[in-house]
Amino acid sequence: MEKISAIRGMNDLLPQKLRIWRDLEKKISSVFCSYGFEEIRTPVLERTELFLRGLGAVTDIVEKEMYSFEDHLNGKKYSLRPENTAAVVRASVQHNLTYNEPKKLWYYGPMFRHERPQAGRYRQFFQFGVEMLGYDGFESEAELILMCKAVWQAIGLSGNLQPVLKINSIGTSEERTLYVKALGEFFERHIDVLDDENLKRLKKNPLRILDSKNENLDTLKNEAPKISSFLGKSSKAHFENLLSLLDSYSIPYEVDLKLVRGLDYYSSTVFEWKASALGAQDTVCGGGRYDALVPLLGGSQQGACGFAIGMERLAEILETEYGNKEGCFLDLYCAHTSQAAKMMAIELAERVRKEGISVRVDLTQSSLKAQVRRAFRNRAQFLAIFGEEEMKAQHVNVRWLNNEEREGQQRKMPFGELAEFLLKNKHNDGNLYQ
Ligand code: ATP
Ligand code: MG
Repeated sequence: MEKISAIRGMNDLLPQKLRIWRDLEKKISSVFCSYGFEEIRTPVLERTELFLRGLGAVTDIVEKEMYSFEDHLNGKKYSLRPENTAAVVRASVQHNLTYNEPKKLWYYGPMFRHERPQAGRYRQFFQFGVEMLGYDGFESEAELILMCKAVWQAIGLSGNLQPVLKINSIGTSEERTLYVKALGEFFERHIDVLDDENLKRLKKNPLRILDSKNENLDTLKNEAPKISSFLGKSSKAHFENLLSLLDSYSIPYEVDLKLVRGLDYYSSTVFEWKASALGAQDTVCGGGRYDALVPLLGGSQQGACGFAIGMERLAEILETEYGNKEGCFLDLYCAHTSQAAKMMAIELAERVRKEGISVRVDLTQSSLKAQVRRAFRNRAQFLAIFGEEEMKAQHVNVRWLNNEEREGQQRKMPFGELAEFLLKNKHNDGNLYQ
């Protein structure tokens, strides 16, 4: 039969890769929890209308990146979520989550975009994100940025690996309307330099030209009118207050007046973190304020802001810098010399697992030598071999594996003492089963 492979741009995450991923997941979620955020999980499938309304019809995502289909059983239109802010806001409005007080939420899961697959850009990718619903003040964005910084620290992106913060304010929608008009007039005068895609953007939403990745437009973009001249008093104050709070926390940033971000729902603060360790797709996190989204999705007017971190890009930096994780991923591997000994190993393994120890019993009929090789390959910390003698004496011989200092050493003990011995001697570094 012919083999069937995964859909282009959708990755299998194999066990070895997942060692880094699990580690990242644990560390990132605990940073979010340490800031008092609560987890939310929403479906991967939503009504298409949610994204049409939430993200804006004239955006790359909605125009050409959504996986949408009509359910032939009921004729309704659904889309795989391309991002999760709209869905989290939908859930908050639906369940009245901000009825009594503002809400801080985080999520983690796969997103789907029909983009051209390349390094750092996939059709299924994972995002960690947070949303602060019911928060107006500039301290909220500062908290988001502090959290990102705490994430970089927690996962080991310090020194020259630390991503760089770019930040801008795109004002209120009224201020932006005037700016977009000026921007449109400016680009109209330079129509000969624009490529096809940006000519389209000029007609539909000139702001998006600033978001273009076409390097030929860089000079033109630099000469274009700046949003900063269009900001009113209150927008300016919000942005300045935020920047001075960042200063007081010694968080370096670069104000990038061309930073607009791809989605319609942003207003006021927008920011991105870029990692120089990555190639062309170097943005590891994007976020900002989106006060207009909640009412757009049927909720009451409230301030809101958030960010999303791309997992694949983070994992790539860590893989390149630190290599694949080489810790021990299993506490004990049980090998045996007969069917009866295997049965005994299974029984004893059940007992020690209850004490929080991870055990793999070799369930094959392979030779002892092959089983021991497997124990090494599976990076177990200890090996126990069960044979006739062990069965008779009801004791077990435990050997250290994958341990330079104690390689080859062993210890004999009665069955009843195995769990205690392992708990005392195993190390937890990188152990996935903890
Ligand atoms: P980009 O400019 O790189 O296309 P974006 O503005 O479309 O990014 P967001 O919607 O802000 O991205 O998503 C937040 C983060 O999610 C990005 O910074 C990136 O790390 C990650 N991300 C976005 N799209 C993809 C993708 N197709 N594959 C992998 N990661 C992605
Ligand atoms: Mg994109």
